Amino acid sequence: MDYYNEDTVLFLDGQFIKAKDASADLYSQTLHYGLGVFEGIRSYHTINGTKIFKPYEHFDRLRKSCELMSIPFDYSSEELTQLSYQILEKNNLSSAYLRPLVIAGENMTLTSPQKSTLMICAWKWDKYFNHRQLSVCISSYQRPNPKSVIIDAKVCGHYVNSILASNEARQRGFDEALMLDASGFVAEGPGANFFYEKDGVLYTPPRGNILPGITRQVVLDICYELELPVKERLFKPEELFKADSAFFCGTAAGIVGISSIEGEKLNKSWKTSLGAIVQEAYQNMVTEKSHAYVIV
Ligand code: PMP
Repeated sequence: MDYYNEDTVLFLDGQFIKAKDASADLYSQTLHYGLGVFEGIRSYHTINGTKIFKPYEHFDRLRKSCELMSIPFDYSSEELTQLSYQILEKNNLSSAYLRPLVIAGENMTLTSPQKSTLMICAWKWDKYFNHRQLSVCISSYQRPNPKSVIIDAKVCGHYVNSILASNEARQRGFDEALMLDASGFVAEGPGANFFYEKDGVLYTPPRGNILPGITRQVVLDICYELELPVKERLFKPEELFKADSAFFCGTAAGIVGISSIEGEKLNKSWKTSLGAIVQEAYQNMVTEKSHAYVIV
C-alpha cells in the first residue's frame, strides 16, 4: 500500500507541502509517549461531486479530543473542512481517506505540550477489509479501561491496544478481533463499533467503554428512520453465540458483516440480515443517492 508518492501534497504547520519534503520533530511528545490525537474521515465520489462524509462531526471530535487531552489547538471545524477539501483537490482525489493528525510539540516531561502542529494528508483507500464478511474472534486484549484513559478521545497511544488485538486475531487465523471491556462486556473492534441482531432487534454496547463512533451514530439514525428496532445495552460474549447476525461499523471499514464469532457461524446469511439493510442505506447516504436531486 502506497500512502504517498513524489507528487503527494499534505498540509503541515500552516502550509501545503510535498509529502516527500515534510518532516516531523523528533522531540515531539506524540512520538515518545503517544500523546497526539487524530481522525479518520472518508470522502466519496457522489453524484453531487466530491463530498466529505460528516466533516463537522469528525472535526468536532478532533477538537474535543484535543480539549480532553489538554493539547492546544485552535482551528475551527469550518477551517478544517475547507483545508480537507483543498487537500483532496491538490491531490486529485475524490473517493479517499483523510487523516488529520494533531502532533504535540516537544516536551519530555509527562505533562501536556505547550503547542501542537496540524497535519492533514489523504490517500486512496478503497477497502479496509478485503473480505466481504469477517470471521471474528474474542480478543484476549481488553479495550483500554476508561478509568485509565479518556476513552471518548481518539488518542494515538490508544491504538497500540488495537494493534495488539488485530495482530492476535490474524495470528489465530481470524479476520478481526472483538474486544471486551474491563468487566467482560462486549465493547468494540480495534477500529470499529459493533452491532448484533437477535429476533429482529439490533443491539450495540452503550457509550462508556467504546469510542463513540460517528458511523455508529449514523447506524442508529438509519435504524430510527427505517423503524428498525435497536437497543443500546451491555451484553456478554456468550449472547453472541445465539445471534442471528452481526456487523462492525466505522469510517474506514464502512458497514461490514460478520460471518462467524470464534468459529460459530451466525444464524442468518448476511443478505437476509438487518445489517444488510443498514449497509445499503449507509452506502446510499455516503454517495448521496438517497438525497439525490436529479433533473431528467
Ligand atoms: N472504535 C474505534 C476504536 C475506532 O478507532 C473507530 C474508528 N475511528 C471506531 C470505533 C469507529 O468510529 P467512526 O465511525 O467515527 O470512524
